[in-house]
Amino acid sequence: MVLDAPGVPLRHADLPVPEPGPGQRLLRVHACGVCRTDLHVLDGEVRASHHPLVLGHQIVATDDATGERVGVPWLGWTCGRCRHCRSGRENLCADARFTGCDLDGGFAEHTVADERFCLPLPEGYPDLDAAPLLCAGLIGHRALRMAGDAERLGLYGFGAAAHIVCQVAAHEGRRVFAFTRAGDEDAQAFARRLGAAWAGDATAAAPEELDAAIVFAPVGALVPTALRAVGRGGTVVCAGIHMSDIPSFPYADLWGERTLRSVANLTRRDGEEFLRLAPAVPVRTTVTAYPLERAQDALDDLRHGRLEGAAVVTVAARRRGA
Ligand SMILES: [Zn+2]
Ligand SMILES: [Zn+2]
Repeated sequence: MVLDAPGVPLRHADLPVPEPGPGQRLLRVHACGVCRTDLHVLDGEVRASHHPLVLGHQIVATDDATGERVGVPWLGWTCGRCRHCRSGRENLCADARFTGCDLDGGFAEHTVADERFCLPLPEGYPDLDAAPLLCAGLIGHRALRMAGDAERLGLYGFGAAAHIVCQVAAHEGRRVFAFTRAGDEDAQAFARRLGAAWAGDATAAAPEELDAAIVFAPVGALVPTALRAVGRGGTVVCAGIHMSDIPSFPYADLWGERTLRSVANLTRRDGEEFLRLAPAVPVRTTVTAYPLERAQDALDDLRHGRLEGAAVVTVAARRRGA
């Protein structure tokens, strides 16, 4: 499924099986998670390096040369030489290439990936359930770490990432407060089932002061809302790659050593850490599956909040040459 230009629907296309370059693996895709970032690339809010482009950066695939099942995340290549790469912050590499954005991704039967950026997947997760771990899980994990040891944790937007973070946070003994679109009672009930201590409308006041909040929804107006919900010394983490403009707010909302920060991308270390942690919690993902040809429907349903948990595109096995 290819994106010909920003703003147009994905097109079903017959492409040649990609040729792996030096250090790359040829992978046969089983499933690929759908992420809000795919919508930002589709809409042109995150700029892709080329078109036509294959989206998708939560790839569960097999390397037929070795028989190994691997995961391919958003971070697809880094320079390895810059100050950020050399100090354990490869997520900030200015020359980084991202899967499904700079590199063709996983809404396809085959893809190629740099062998250094293929992650080992935990056993015990079927392909469908493993896919959302690779971005929703990894970015959520990084965002949760940035929230520090907050005991009362707010999650703004309860989609694929929050549904995983909620389980990890509850497992760690934190109390989770889930803020959803106004009136989205299904999402609020879903959050409670996953261990949230409280769930309600994002427009409503928090029932008690929070220690930290993670904003997953791409809505800038939620940033001052979250800052007002955290107490002195609290942290607000913006976990999305793109957000609408943040309205101005009084300095008093930041005063008291509140911290406002973003989380950008992931490192391979985040990947290894989280993929070890997930089966220990254990994280259980809720997925809605779409066959590859319906990837655009998955994106539309994600945009309109019509699904619970994560959307995953599945790729049926097709005989080579068939
Ligand atoms: Zn993503
Ligand atoms: Zn670099």
